Amino acid sequence: MVAQVGQAAHRVLIIGGGFAGLYAARQLSKDERLTTTIADRRNFHLFTPLLYQVATGAVSPGDIAQPLRSILRRQRNTTVLLGEAVGLDPARREVLLADGGPLGYDSLIVASGARFSYFGHDGWARDAPGLKSLDDALEIRRRILIAFEAAEREHDPGRRAEWLTFVIVGGGPTGVELAGSLGEIARDTLRRDFRSIDTRSARINLVEALPRILPTYPADRSASARRQLERLGATVRTATRVVDIDDHSVTVERADGTRELIPARTVLWAAGILASSFVTAVARATSAPTDQSGRIEVQSDLTVPGHPEIFAVGDAAVQPWKKDRAVPGVAQGGIQGGRYAASMIQARLSGETPPPFRYRNRGDVAVIGRLAGVTDIPWLGPFGRQSGFPAWVLWLTIHILYLIGFANRIVVVVRWAWSFFTRGRGSRLITGAPLLPPIEEPEPPA
Ligand SMILES: Cc1cc2nc3c(=O)[nH]c(=O)nc-3n(C[C@H](O)[C@H](O)[C@H](O)COP(=O)(O)OP(=O)(O)OC[C@H]3O[C@@H](n4cnc5c(N)ncnc54)[C@H](O)[C@@H]3O)c2cc1C
Repeated sequence: MVAQVGQAAHRVLIIGGGFAGLYAARQLSKDERLTTTIADRRNFHLFTPLLYQVATGAVSPGDIAQPLRSILRRQRNTTVLLGEAVGLDPARREVLLADGGPLGYDSLIVASGARFSYFGHDGWARDAPGLKSLDDALEIRRRILIAFEAAEREHDPGRRAEWLTFVIVGGGPTGVELAGSLGEIARDTLRRDFRSIDTRSARINLVEALPRILPTYPADRSASARRQLERLGATVRTATRVVDIDDHSVTVERADGTRELIPARTVLWAAGILASSFVTAVARATSAPTDQSGRIEVQSDLTVPGHPEIFAVGDAAVQPWKKDRAVPGVAQGGIQGGRYAASMIQARLSGETPPPFRYRNRGDVAVIGRLAGVTDIPWLGPFGRQSGFPAWVLWLTIHILYLIGFANRIVVVVRWAWSFFTRGRGSRLITGAPLLPPIEEPEPPA
């Protein structure tokens, strides 16, 4: 029988139902010695690796999100709560929610992830939305589709070119996948849908401050990704940083100090991360050290220094890996960190001391457009370094395997198959408040 709250059951509180929090909760599922509460400010688990597919209209929001309550409904020792954690009292072992609380715990797992950093230019967020949540994805989808609609109605060539110019800031996997998808939309998906514009003339610019895109991949994978993007018509600018953004343009600066103004109406942000605000609250309350992104520098057992009862995992933490490198901010980092923290709690209840956290690198995959991509999967040997179509197939297999929820997988595969055969994108509706700015109507025919 599952012990009840108020009895001697060990109370585990997990903040965040992303990869780290969800996999921690699942690890604890059948343990009758404890009760688990998982609190998230949204009621669903989001499969972030496919967010850009929502942003570019390939799949619908419901295909990549599953209610936490339904994923965990069979876990009788687990309670799911909708709520935003805003504070921590480590002495009382309580977490405060924005609309009440407190929630008590014996062990706490902080898994509240990260958000985008605008490097001190938070004002840029209005003109350059980042892709982190479902709402972001829908907003980006709206902006992309509206840009083509506005270009169709615009008869001034300069202004039309502005609408057909897209800038993506950040050449990591998200930026590369967004640029690839946009290239595919412009060259293929929308090609026959418009009458006044040739969507293939759209200019897609990917801007990266470092010397190469996909900087965490081996150099030859980065070069291959660049070639594949250029084949899709994208312009890749490396060693170039953004110095200003407004609603009509982006100004970039190259390594030699020269500046260029790119007139563009659609700017998307995919650079830099910052720990979530709850992580900042935890660091403050526990005086924990943090890195420049605000992530907690945890110990080798993923606990916060001086607080063996508090774990920080996934994107919320600097999880140790190699001497000179922490675990990257990827789903596997969250999954493995969450599972480890949960098994550590279980081991302690059994009076055991497990070995320190050891990250197993499962590799990286990035997809570029419809049938291309790059992979770097060290444990597959030479087979793990693929480009083009084989990379795309590997990417597809991995993502389907990891999609949470069986029904989801089938729906997403069917939708992908459909969009593959029809070269279309099923989810192209523009919803929400109108964003279309005043457009000068074409002169009526004389
Ligand atoms: C667009 C995009 C594409 C990506 N693509 C890939 C990819 O292809 N492959 C890959 O491996 N990784 C990818 N990543 C990275 C990967 O998503 C993250 O590394 C992973 O999600 C980290 O897991 P996490 O559980 O630490 O955080 P998250 O998955 O971000 O989960 C954090 C959870 O905490 C909740 N939360 C936050 N603050 C609070 C609060 N105060 N109170 C309550 N709940 C809170 C959030 O709602 C969320 O559910 C991508 C990320 C993005 C944004």
